[in-house]
Amino acid sequence: MSEQRHIPISKPWMGEAEADAAKRAIMSGWVTQGPEVTAFEQEFAAYVGANYACAVSNCTTALHLALLAVGVKPGDEVITVSHSYIATANSIRYCGAIPVFVDIEPHTYNINPTLIEAAIGNRTRAILVVHQMGMPCDLKAILDVARRYNLPVIEDAACAIGSEILWDGEWEKIGKPHGDIACFSFHPRKVITTGDGGMLTTSNPEWDRQFRLWRQHGMSVPDTVRHGAKQVIFESYPMLGYNYRMTDIQAAVGREQLKRLLEIVARRRLLAERYQDQLSDVPGLKLPTEPNWAKSNWQSYCVRLPEQCDQVQVMQAMLDAGISTRRGIMCAHREEAYQIEAWSCGIALAECQHELGRCDRLPESELAQERSILLPLFHQITEKEQDYVSKIFAANVKLIA
Ligand SMILES: *Cc1c(COP(=O)(O)O)cnc(C)c1O
Repeated sequence: MSEQRHIPISKPWMGEAEADAAKRAIMSGWVTQGPEVTAFEQEFAAYVGANYACAVSNCTTALHLALLAVGVKPGDEVITVSHSYIATANSIRYCGAIPVFVDIEPHTYNINPTLIEAAIGNRTRAILVVHQMGMPCDLKAILDVARRYNLPVIEDAACAIGSEILWDGEWEKIGKPHGDIACFSFHPRKVITTGDGGMLTTSNPEWDRQFRLWRQHGMSVPDTVRHGAKQVIFESYPMLGYNYRMTDIQAAVGREQLKRLLEIVARRRLLAERYQDQLSDVPGLKLPTEPNWAKSNWQSYCVRLPEQCDQVQVMQAMLDAGISTRRGIMCAHREEAYQIEAWSCGIALAECQHELGRCDRLPESELAQERSILLPLFHQITEKEQDYVSKIFAANVKLIA
Protein backbone atom coordinates (compact mmCIF):
# COMPACT_ATOMS: atom_id res chain seq x y z
CA MET A 1 0.00 0.00 0.00
CA SER A 2 2.74 2.45 0.93
CA GLU A 3 4.54 1.64 -2.37
CA GLN A 4 2.14 3.53 -4.58
CA ARG A 5 1.23 6.17 -2.03
CA HIS A 6 3.15 9.39 -2.06
CA ILE A 7 2.01 12.48 -0.23
CA PRO A 8 4.10 15.54 -1.06
CA ILE A 9 4.83 18.34 1.40
CA SER A 10 2.92 20.81 -0.76
CA LYS A 11 1.49 21.24 -4.22
CA PRO A 12 0.20 24.34 -6.00
CA TRP A 13 -3.51 24.41 -6.78
CA MET A 14 -3.81 25.42 -10.43
CA GLY A 15 -5.93 24.32 -13.34
CA GLU A 16 -7.56 25.22 -16.65
CA ALA A 17 -8.25 28.77 -15.52
CA GLU A 18 -4.53 29.45 -15.04
CA ALA A 19 -3.62 27.72 -18.30
CA ASP A 20 -6.23 29.80 -20.17
CA ALA A 21 -4.96 32.97 -18.54
CA ALA A 22 -1.39 32.24 -19.62
CA LYS A 23 -2.68 31.60 -23.13
CA ARG A 24 -4.61 34.89 -23.09
CA ALA A 25 -1.43 36.79 -22.23
CA ILE A 26 0.62 34.97 -24.85
CA MET A 27 -1.95 35.49 -27.60
CA SER A 28 -2.34 39.17 -26.75
CA GLY A 29 1.16 39.91 -27.99
CA TRP A 30 2.12 41.80 -24.83
CA VAL A 31 4.04 39.44 -22.58
CA THR A 32 5.90 41.44 -19.99
CA GLN A 33 4.99 44.21 -17.58
CA GLY A 34 1.91 45.22 -19.50
CA PRO A 35 -1.85 45.28 -18.85
CA GLU A 36 -2.00 41.95 -16.99
CA VAL A 37 0.65 43.15 -14.55
CA THR A 38 -1.25 46.40 -13.97
CA ALA A 39 -4.49 44.52 -13.39
CA PHE A 40 -2.80 42.02 -11.05
CA GLU A 41 -1.32 44.90 -9.04
CA GLN A 42 -4.71 46.57 -8.69
CA GLU A 43 -6.48 43.38 -7.71
CA PHE A 44 -3.76 42.47 -5.25
CA ALA A 45 -3.81 45.94 -3.65
CA ALA A 46 -7.59 45.72 -3.30
CA TYR A 47 -7.33 42.27 -1.75
CA VAL A 48 -4.86 43.20 0.99
CA GLY A 49 -6.22 46.73 1.42
CA ALA A 50 -3.03 48.48 0.28
CA ASN A 51 -2.79 51.87 -1.41
CA TYR A 52 -0.06 50.70 -3.78
CA ALA A 53 1.12 47.34 -5.04
CA CYS A 54 4.08 46.89 -7.39
CA ALA A 55 4.78 43.53 -9.03
CA VAL A 56 8.35 42.28 -9.34
CA SER A 57 10.20 39.11 -10.32
CA ASN A 58 10.18 37.45 -6.88
CA CYS A 59 10.10 38.21 -3.17
CA THR A 60 13.88 38.42 -2.87
CA THR A 61 14.01 41.28 -5.36
CA ALA A 62 11.02 42.85 -3.58
CA LEU A 63 12.97 42.77 -0.30
CA HIS A 64 16.01 44.28 -2.00
CA LEU A 65 13.97 47.21 -3.35
CA ALA A 66 12.15 47.69 -0.03
CA LEU A 67 15.47 48.01 1.80
CA LEU A 68 16.80 50.44 -0.81
CA ALA A 69 13.63 52.53 -0.58
CA VAL A 70 13.95 53.03 3.17
CA GLY A 71 17.55 54.10 2.65
CA VAL A 72 19.64 51.07 3.62
CA LYS A 73 23.23 51.71 2.52
CA PRO A 74 26.57 49.89 2.66
CA GLY A 75 27.76 49.54 6.25
CA ASP A 76 24.29 49.96 7.74
CA GLU A 77 22.79 47.34 10.01
CA VAL A 78 19.34 45.84 9.56
CA ILE A 79 17.73 43.93 12.41
CA THR A 80 16.15 40.66 11.33
CA VAL A 81 15.93 36.95 12.12
CA SER A 82 18.36 34.23 11.15
CA HIS A 83 15.55 31.70 11.43
CA SER A 84 14.04 32.30 7.98
CA TYR A 85 14.58 31.32 4.42
CA ILE A 86 18.06 32.59 3.52
CA ALA A 87 16.66 35.18 1.08
CA THR A 88 15.61 37.37 4.02
CA ALA A 89 19.19 37.90 5.21
CA ASN A 90 20.62 37.85 1.69
CA SER A 91 18.51 40.82 0.64
CA ILE A 92 20.19 42.89 3.36
CA ARG A 93 23.61 41.91 2.08
CA TYR A 94 22.66 42.94 -1.47
CA CYS A 95 22.55 46.49 -0.09
CA GLY A 96 26.04 46.08 1.38
CA ALA A 97 24.42 46.15 4.81
CA ILE A 98 24.80 43.75 7.71
CA PRO A 99 22.00 41.60 9.10
CA VAL A 100 21.84 41.74 12.89
CA PHE A 101 20.11 38.58 14.00
CA VAL A 102 17.57 38.53 16.79
CA ASP A 103 16.19 35.31 18.27
CA ILE A 104 12.65 34.05 17.80
CA GLU A 105 9.74 33.14 20.03
CA PRO A 106 9.59 29.33 20.23
CA HIS A 107 5.82 29.08 19.76
CA THR A 108 5.29 31.28 16.72
CA TYR A 109 8.77 30.96 15.13
CA ASN A 110 8.66 34.75 14.71
CA ILE A 111 11.01 37.48 15.92
CA ASN A 112 10.90 38.04 19.68
CA PRO A 113 9.96 41.73 19.97
CA THR A 114 11.42 42.03 23.48
CA LEU A 115 14.92 41.39 22.07
CA ILE A 116 14.82 44.06 19.38
CA GLU A 117 15.72 47.10 21.46
CA ALA A 118 19.01 45.60 22.66
CA ALA A 119 20.01 44.98 19.06
CA ILE A 120 19.58 48.62 18.00
CA GLY A 121 22.84 50.52 17.55
CA ASN A 122 24.16 53.66 15.85
CA ARG A 123 24.22 51.98 12.47
CA THR A 124 20.77 50.41 12.62
CA ARG A 125 18.80 51.59 9.60
CA ALA A 126 15.74 49.35 9.46
CA ILE A 127 13.94 46.36 10.91
CA LEU A 128 13.05 43.48 8.59
CA VAL A 129 10.53 41.14 10.20
CA VAL A 130 9.12 37.89 8.84
CA HIS A 131 5.60 36.44 9.05
CA GLN A 132 7.10 32.98 9.23
CA MET A 133 5.15 30.20 7.54
CA GLY A 134 2.23 32.62 7.24
CA MET A 135 1.90 33.31 10.96
CA PRO A 136 1.68 37.07 11.55
CA CYS A 137 4.50 38.35 13.76
CA ASP A 138 3.75 40.67 16.68
CA LEU A 139 3.61 43.86 14.61
CA LYS A 140 2.10 45.99 17.39
CA ALA A 141 5.03 45.33 19.72
CA ILE A 142 7.57 45.60 16.89
CA LEU A 143 6.20 48.93 15.65
CA ASP A 144 6.18 50.25 19.19
CA VAL A 145 9.97 49.81 19.42
CA ALA A 146 10.58 50.87 15.82
CA ARG A 147 8.65 54.13 16.13
CA ARG A 148 10.51 55.07 19.31
CA TYR A 149 13.80 54.80 17.42
CA ASN A 150 12.37 56.19 14.18
CA LEU A 151 13.21 53.01 12.27
CA PRO A 152 11.26 51.81 9.22
CA VAL A 153 9.73 48.33 9.40
CA ILE A 154 9.70 46.05 6.37
CA GLU A 155 7.52 42.94 6.47
CA ASP A 156 8.80 39.81 4.76
CA ALA A 157 5.34 38.48 3.98
CA ALA A 158 6.65 35.94 1.44
CA CYS A 159 4.45 33.24 2.97
CA ALA A 160 1.65 35.39 4.37
CA ILE A 161 -0.78 36.20 1.56
CA GLY A 162 -4.26 35.77 3.05
CA SER A 163 -3.10 35.87 6.69
CA GLU A 164 -4.79 38.37 8.98
CA ILE A 165 -3.99 40.43 12.04
CA LEU A 166 -6.33 42.04 14.55
CA TRP A 167 -5.72 45.77 14.26
CA ASP A 168 -7.62 48.24 16.42
CA GLY A 169 -10.48 45.78 16.77
CA GLU A 170 -10.69 44.83 13.07
CA TRP A 171 -9.24 41.85 11.22
CA GLU A 172 -6.96 43.21 8.50
CA LYS A 173 -4.96 41.44 5.83
CA ILE A 174 -1.20 41.21 6.09
CA GLY A 175 0.13 43.56 3.43
CA LYS A 176 -1.97 46.63 4.08
CA PRO A 177 0.88 47.12 5.20
CA HIS A 178 1.03 47.72 8.93
CA GLY A 179 4.74 48.35 8.77
CA ASP A 180 6.13 50.55 5.98
CA ILE A 181 6.48 48.05 3.16
CA ALA A 182 5.38 44.43 2.79
CA CYS A 183 6.94 41.92 0.35
CA PHE A 184 5.19 38.83 -1.01
CA SER A 185 6.29 35.73 -2.91
CA PHE A 186 4.46 33.71 -5.56
CA HIS A 187 6.92 30.82 -5.60
CA PRO A 188 5.14 27.43 -5.90
CA ARG A 189 5.97 26.63 -2.26
CA LYS A 190 3.76 29.54 -1.15
CA VAL A 191 -0.03 29.68 -0.92
CA ILE A 192 -0.64 31.07 -4.42
CA THR A 193 1.86 30.99 -7.26
CA THR A 194 2.84 32.53 -10.56
CA GLY A 195 5.79 30.15 -11.03
CA ASP A 196 8.03 32.87 -9.68
CA GLY A 197 6.89 36.33 -8.74
CA GLY A 198 6.76 38.95 -6.04
CA MET A 199 4.82 41.99 -4.89
CA LEU A 200 5.60 45.10 -2.85
CA THR A 201 2.83 46.95 -1.02
CA THR A 202 3.06 50.34 0.66
CA SER A 203 1.09 53.47 1.51
CA ASN A 204 3.94 55.68 0.35
CA PRO A 205 3.48 56.94 -3.24
CA GLU A 206 7.11 58.04 -3.48
CA TRP A 207 8.40 54.56 -2.67
CA ASP A 208 5.93 53.01 -5.11
CA ARG A 209 7.25 55.32 -7.82
CA GLN A 210 10.81 54.31 -6.93
CA PHE A 211 9.97 50.59 -7.13
CA ARG A 212 8.58 51.08 -10.63
CA LEU A 213 11.73 52.80 -11.83
CA TRP A 214 14.12 50.33 -10.20
CA ARG A 215 12.35 47.23 -11.45
CA GLN A 216 12.76 48.30 -15.06
CA HIS A 217 16.42 49.34 -15.34
CA GLY A 218 15.79 52.79 -13.84
CA MET A 219 14.10 53.79 -17.09
CA SER A 220 12.19 57.07 -16.94
CA VAL A 221 9.42 56.15 -19.41
CA PRO A 222 7.78 52.71 -19.14
CA ASP A 223 7.19 50.67 -22.32
CA THR A 224 3.45 51.01 -21.96
CA VAL A 225 3.68 54.81 -22.12
CA ARG A 226 5.97 54.84 -25.15
CA HIS A 227 3.73 52.32 -26.87
CA GLY A 228 0.65 54.49 -26.44
CA ALA A 229 2.37 57.82 -27.20
CA LYS A 230 1.29 59.90 -30.18
CA GLN A 231 4.61 61.68 -30.23
CA VAL A 232 8.16 60.41 -30.18
CA ILE A 233 9.49 60.07 -26.63
CA PHE A 234 13.00 59.15 -25.57
CA GLU A 235 13.54 57.52 -22.23
CA SER A 236 16.36 58.40 -19.85
CA TYR A 237 18.07 56.55 -17.02
CA PRO A 238 18.38 58.86 -14.02
CA MET A 239 19.50 56.12 -11.63
CA LEU A 240 20.97 52.64 -11.39
CA GLY A 241 18.11 50.24 -11.94
CA TYR A 242 17.60 46.49 -12.13
CA ASN A 243 15.68 44.00 -14.19
CA TYR A 244 13.16 42.87 -11.58
CA ARG A 245 10.12 42.75 -13.89
CA MET A 246 7.19 40.39 -13.69
CA THR A 247 5.89 39.03 -17.01
CA ASP A 248 2.27 39.38 -18.15
CA ILE A 249 2.11 35.60 -18.42
CA GLN A 250 2.88 35.33 -14.71
CA ALA A 251 0.50 38.16 -13.80
CA ALA A 252 -2.35 36.60 -15.77
CA VAL A 253 -1.85 33.37 -13.81
CA GLY A 254 -1.62 35.35 -10.58
CA ARG A 255 -5.00 36.98 -11.20
CA GLU A 256 -6.61 33.55 -11.41
CA GLN A 257 -4.77 32.38 -8.32
CA LEU A 258 -6.00 35.43 -6.43
CA LYS A 259 -9.59 34.37 -7.20
CA ARG A 260 -8.89 31.06 -5.46
CA LEU A 261 -7.23 32.57 -2.43
CA LEU A 262 -10.24 32.79 -0.09
CA GLU A 263 -11.06 29.17 -0.73
CA ILE A 264 -7.43 28.11 -0.35
CA VAL A 265 -7.02 29.86 3.00
CA ALA A 266 -10.32 28.47 4.32
CA ARG A 267 -9.25 24.97 3.34
CA ARG A 268 -5.81 25.35 4.89
CA ARG A 269 -7.31 26.63 8.13
CA LEU A 270 -9.59 23.61 8.25
CA LEU A 271 -6.68 21.25 7.62
CA ALA A 272 -4.64 22.92 10.38
CA GLU A 273 -7.57 22.45 12.75
CA ARG A 274 -7.76 18.79 11.83
CA TYR A 275 -4.04 18.32 12.59
CA GLN A 276 -4.63 20.08 15.89
CA ASP A 277 -7.43 17.64 16.75
CA GLN A 278 -5.57 14.57 15.59
CA LEU A 279 -2.19 15.30 17.16
CA SER A 280 -2.98 17.19 20.34
CA ASP A 281 -2.67 14.12 22.55
CA VAL A 282 0.71 12.90 21.26
CA PRO A 283 2.89 13.08 24.40
CA GLY A 284 5.61 15.75 24.28
CA LEU A 285 4.64 17.00 20.82
CA LYS A 286 4.17 20.77 20.57
CA LEU A 287 1.69 22.01 18.00
CA PRO A 288 1.70 25.53 16.56
CA THR A 289 -0.85 27.93 18.01
CA GLU A 290 -2.18 31.26 16.83
CA PRO A 291 -1.92 34.24 19.16
CA ASN A 292 -5.48 35.56 19.62
CA TRP A 293 -4.66 38.55 17.38
CA ALA A 294 -3.46 36.42 14.46
CA LYS A 295 -5.06 34.27 11.76
CA SER A 296 -2.51 32.26 9.82
CA ASN A 297 -2.95 31.05 6.26
CA TRP A 298 -0.94 27.99 7.43
CA GLN A 299 1.50 28.17 4.55
CA SER A 300 3.32 25.47 6.52
CA TYR A 301 2.29 23.36 9.49
CA CYS A 302 5.31 23.10 11.78
CA VAL A 303 5.33 20.83 14.83
CA ARG A 304 8.00 20.53 17.49
CA LEU A 305 9.11 17.00 18.32
CA PRO A 306 9.41 15.69 21.86
CA GLU A 307 12.94 16.11 23.23
CA GLN A 308 13.96 12.45 22.96
CA CYS A 309 12.77 12.19 19.38
CA ASP A 310 15.32 12.18 16.56
CA GLN A 311 14.29 14.50 13.74
CA VAL A 312 15.95 12.58 10.91
CA GLN A 313 14.65 9.25 12.17
CA VAL A 314 11.05 10.52 12.23
CA MET A 315 11.39 12.11 8.79
CA GLN A 316 12.86 8.89 7.36
CA ALA A 317 10.08 6.79 8.87
CA MET A 318 7.54 9.13 7.30
CA LEU A 319 9.29 8.95 3.94
CA ASP A 320 9.32 5.14 4.15
CA ALA A 321 5.55 5.35 4.57
CA GLY A 322 5.28 7.53 1.45
CA ILE A 323 4.96 10.88 3.21
CA SER A 324 7.23 13.86 2.53
CA THR A 325 8.12 16.12 5.43
CA ARG A 326 10.68 18.91 5.83
CA ARG A 327 12.82 19.91 8.76
CA GLY A 328 12.13 23.18 10.58
CA ILE A 329 12.99 26.50 8.95
CA MET A 330 16.71 27.03 8.38
CA CYS A 331 19.01 29.44 10.22
CA ALA A 332 21.00 31.67 7.87
CA HIS A 333 23.79 32.18 10.40
CA ARG A 334 24.66 28.49 10.27
CA GLU A 335 25.20 28.40 6.53
CA GLU A 336 28.60 28.62 4.90
CA ALA A 337 27.52 31.69 2.96
CA TYR A 338 27.43 33.46 6.32
CA GLN A 339 30.81 32.29 7.67
CA ILE A 340 32.51 35.34 6.33
CA GLU A 341 33.25 37.79 9.08
CA ALA A 342 32.66 38.52 12.70
CA TRP A 343 28.95 38.78 12.99
CA SER A 344 26.51 40.60 15.11
CA CYS A 345 23.92 38.53 16.88
CA GLY A 346 21.72 40.94 18.70
CA ILE A 347 24.69 42.91 20.02
CA ALA A 348 26.57 45.81 18.48
CA LEU A 349 28.89 44.68 15.70
CA ALA A 350 32.05 46.10 17.25
CA GLU A 351 31.60 44.01 20.38
CA CYS A 352 30.75 40.86 18.54
CA GLN A 353 33.39 38.16 18.82
CA HIS A 354 31.22 35.45 17.38
CA GLU A 355 31.61 33.77 14.11
CA LEU A 356 28.26 32.97 12.67
CA GLY A 357 28.57 29.22 12.77
CA ARG A 358 29.36 29.26 16.45
CA CYS A 359 26.83 31.79 17.44
CA ASP A 360 25.26 30.80 20.75
CA ARG A 361 22.97 33.76 21.02
CA LEU A 362 20.16 32.40 18.91
CA PRO A 363 19.25 29.32 20.95
CA GLU A 364 15.56 29.34 20.07
CA SER A 365 16.29 29.73 16.36
CA GLU A 366 18.67 26.79 16.41
CA LEU A 367 16.33 24.62 18.45
CA ALA A 368 13.46 25.38 16.12
CA GLN A 369 15.52 24.21 13.16
CA GLU A 370 16.68 21.05 14.92
CA ARG A 371 13.52 20.02 16.73
CA SER A 372 10.73 20.87 14.30
CA ILE A 373 9.31 19.25 11.26
CA LEU A 374 6.81 20.40 8.66
CA LEU A 375 3.90 18.11 7.79
CA PRO A 376 2.16 17.98 4.40
CA LEU A 377 -0.51 20.64 4.03
CA PHE A 378 -1.94 21.71 0.67
CA HIS A 379 -5.29 22.43 -0.86
CA GLN A 380 -5.85 19.11 -2.61
CA ILE A 381 -4.81 16.78 0.20
CA THR A 382 -7.80 14.62 1.06
CA GLU A 383 -9.03 14.15 4.59
CA LYS A 384 -8.22 10.47 4.25
CA GLU A 385 -4.65 11.28 3.29
CA GLN A 386 -4.35 13.67 6.19
CA ASP A 387 -5.71 11.04 8.58
CA TYR A 388 -3.02 8.70 7.26
CA VAL A 389 -0.28 11.33 7.80
CA SER A 390 -1.46 11.94 11.37
CA LYS A 391 -1.69 8.23 12.14
CA ILE A 392 1.79 7.39 10.80
CA PHE A 393 3.30 10.48 12.39
CA ALA A 394 1.80 9.89 15.84
CA ALA A 395 2.83 6.23 15.78
CA ASN A 396 6.42 7.06 14.85
CA VAL A 397 6.77 9.85 17.38
CA LYS A 398 5.61 7.50 20.12
CA LEU A 399 7.86 4.70 18.85
CA ILE A 400 10.99 6.82 18.47
CA ALA A 401 10.54 8.92 21.60
C1 LIG B 1 10.14 32.03 0.02
C2 LIG B 1 10.67 33.08 0.89
C3 LIG B 1 11.43 34.14 0.40
C4 LIG B 1 11.90 34.21 -1.03
O1 LIG B 1 10.86 34.30 -1.95
P1 LIG B 1 11.20 34.20 -3.53
O2 LIG B 1 9.93 34.63 -4.18
O3 LIG B 1 11.55 32.78 -3.79
O4 LIG B 1 12.33 35.12 -3.81
C5 LIG B 1 11.80 35.14 1.27
N1 LIG B 1 11.46 35.10 2.56
C6 LIG B 1 10.75 34.08 3.08
C7 LIG B 1 10.38 34.11 4.53
C8 LIG B 1 10.34 33.04 2.27
O5 LIG B 1 9.65 32.02 2.80
